[in-house]
Amino acid sequence: MRDVIVIGAGHNGLVCSAYLAMAGLKVTVLDQRPIAGGAAVTEEFSPGFFNSTAAYAVSLLNPKIIRDLDLAGHGLKIVARPISNFLPLGDQGFLKVGGGQTKREVAKFSSRDADRLDEYQTRLKAIADVLRASVLETPPNILEGSPLAAIAELLKAGRVANRIRALGLDLQRDLLDLFAASAGDFLDGWFESAPIKAAFGFDSIVGNYASPYAPGSAYVLLHHSFGEVNGTKGVWGHAIGGMGAITKAMAKAAAAHGVEIRLSTGVRKVLVENGRAFGVETEKGEVIRANAVAAGINPKLLYLQLVDGGALPEDFRRRIANWRCGSGTFRMNVALSELPDFTVLPGHEAAEHHASGIIIAPSLAYMEQAYFDARSVGWSRRPIVELVIPSTLDNTLAPRGQHVASLFCQHAAPQLPGGISWDDQRESVADLMIETVNEHAPNFKRSVLARQIFSPLDLERTFGLTGGDIFHGKLDLGQIFSARPMLGHADYRGPVAGLFLCGSGGHPGGGVTGAPGHNAAREILRDFRRKRIAKAR
Ligand SMILES: Cc1cc2nc3c(=O)[nH]c(=O)nc-3n(C[C@H](O)[C@H](O)[C@H](O)COP(=O)(O)OP(=O)(O)OC[C@H]3O[C@@H](n4cnc5c(N)ncnc54)[C@H](O)[C@@H]3O)c2cc1C
Repeated sequence: MRDVIVIGAGHNGLVCSAYLAMAGLKVTVLDQRPIAGGAAVTEEFSPGFFNSTAAYAVSLLNPKIIRDLDLAGHGLKIVARPISNFLPLGDQGFLKVGGGQTKREVAKFSSRDADRLDEYQTRLKAIADVLRASVLETPPNILEGSPLAAIAELLKAGRVANRIRALGLDLQRDLLDLFAASAGDFLDGWFESAPIKAAFGFDSIVGNYASPYAPGSAYVLLHHSFGEVNGTKGVWGHAIGGMGAITKAMAKAAAAHGVEIRLSTGVRKVLVENGRAFGVETEKGEVIRANAVAAGINPKLLYLQLVDGGALPEDFRRRIANWRCGSGTFRMNVALSELPDFTVLPGHEAAEHHASGIIIAPSLAYMEQAYFDARSVGWSRRPIVELVIPSTLDNTLAPRGQHVASLFCQHAAPQLPGGISWDDQRESVADLMIETVNEHAPNFKRSVLARQIFSPLDLERTFGLTGGDIFHGKLDLGQIFSARPMLGHADYRGPVAGLFLCGSGGHPGGGVTGAPGHNAAREILRDFRRKRIAKAR
């Protein structure tokens, strides 16, 4: 008999299991895939070429979790990019962001914008600090009934309110904008030149199937700002060995504390009796009993597919059915014979821009049009592509002299209009993505030796990401913080006793943070301590 079964060996399932085991619980993790790590894995996609299959860049991974699980001791090494971003802009040249060059670079387009950069970044950082302080906390939960429990939640809300109060009125106004306004309106209020707005605005449409002018998109921008690399806040880096190095280290940490990880073991049912979860049934029909179950999977998958409808309140089920899922993400990995030679910055010898996040999207207007296209046709005629070439920072991924690149492309509709299947469009849309890069680096197309493609449907089929949603559910005001996944269930507990959500469908949402897994483990342990859940003998 186990104490806890964790469904899903995504990074959050692994983090959750490790904390539970460190506290002395007997834990088994089950995953349908033959490899642990969920969307944060490294795989060989063509002989000799390895890459992070889905997630590809690290920043949000919480430093406390890195320390607690001793991920460095288990082999994790993260390196920073020399500069954050490079935007090839055709006739307008290029913009580099980061590496101490941003001001000089932005001044090429607007000296006014260059002058405003410091203030923008100081303010965003102050607000990101507030968010950062809350990621490892359980949000205040809206409760009915017990006045005692309600007081505890009020205290939590008070802590958050105090942090916000400490910002001062001016920053509180910015905070409101960042939660409710569009990234486009927010950035237009700061800057006049298109390239820097595109560089910053890109974060608002990552995994967010929306125009950067959609209200709420500014929050997605903020969500991508609370991370850090080796202590430097707000920057993105690379895990040596790819994102799989993170989850391999997590799996090792979990195993070192006695967690059993069983792969190629899909769960088809959470077993519930008298309103309490008591185990799972696997796809192969095996029943595995435990005193609690934690699910690191999309809330829609959990509650609509694995839990019997009769075990859930009707209203809860209806709301979960309306949980908004679906990123406009199309993802490719390519093996390259040489580095791209950009027209605006020639040379295919490795340079700092090759080791950055190369964003092909010159303006917010371009991003908005990409969304409009995807709404009508299914994909963008002129798509947004971020190209990252991790082999410029990591020689473990490709044969000497050759490279691997991630293409993270937006916007591609989660479901194509007119009943068309992504299976019929995958190759032609992949060609379009390659052409899009080729327009800026004319050697790119001929340098592609092999490619791996994930349409939104492939992301769903391969990783269990409903609607291809990279965050397990849209990050907007209606689905974050106390409302993630639903008001009244922000404490990682659902309506079924002993059944917890430990994946990105819980606060603080998606990205390789480890935070939902960490927080869910704390709540699960609290229930064990309070004897709401019995310890297995
Ligand atoms: C294309 C793409 C690019 C991304 N880029 C980045 C990035 O660069 N940086 C970043 O920080 N984040 C990125 N993200 C987001 C990030 O990867 C995810 O938000 C995060 O990995 C989710 O982690 P998780 O542990 O909550 O769930 P997941 O990683 O989704 O893991 C869930 C696991 O549950 C398993 N599972 C599902 N159903 C069952 C079942 N019935 N039985 C057993 N197992 C089951 C799945 O196989 C999977 O292994 C990206 C995501 C995608 C898809």
